[in-house]
Amino acid sequence: MSNIQELTEALLLELGEDPNREGLIKTPERVANAWKFFSKGYYENIEVITNGAIFTEDAKDMVIVRDIEFFSLCEHHLLPFFGKAHVGYIPNGKVIGLSKIPRIVDMYSHRLQVQERLTNQVANGIKKILDPIGVAVVMEGKHMCMQMRGVEKQNSSATTSAMLDKFEESSRTRSEFLSIINKRAG
Ligand code: ZN
Repeated sequence: MSNIQELTEALLLELGEDPNREGLIKTPERVANAWKFFSKGYYENIEVITNGAIFTEDAKDMVIVRDIEFFSLCEHHLLPFFGKAHVGYIPNGKVIGLSKIPRIVDMYSHRLQVQERLTNQVANGIKKILDPIGVAVVMEGKHMCMQMRGVEKQNSSATTSAMLDKFEESSRTRSEFLSIINKRAG
């Protein structure tokens, strides 16, 4: 039995439940497997996941991947927060395979997080591997710790952003990015 299985069994007992009843008998095992997946980002690093997907290219125009779904866990309550991430960068001689950008978001999301730090880590991760002219990340998340506990309005969401280099320096660059991510599909 893994530690997480044992801890889950202890939690069930603490709640006054019977861990041996039919519906709960396999719960510790299922929870342990789920946590293995939720925390897989601790065992990954950006160099490995982007290995072989960085290409030399003299493109200088902004690249944007928007509406990237993410699921993460708030480190204060161990409850999910989830939503969409929008990522942009301006290449400086190197581009990254587009499918790797959601992988980067995924890697940092699968750790205990606060949304502000997650947003910064995605931006700084891309900066580190591509050395681009600038990176911009905006994340919109709904937090179950707010919604389930009734602290805030049920439909409120949090928006965080990280603007690095050119996106920080130039309001025109920033506006271009923001207007593209705000344009609704269709
Ligand atoms: Zn929380």
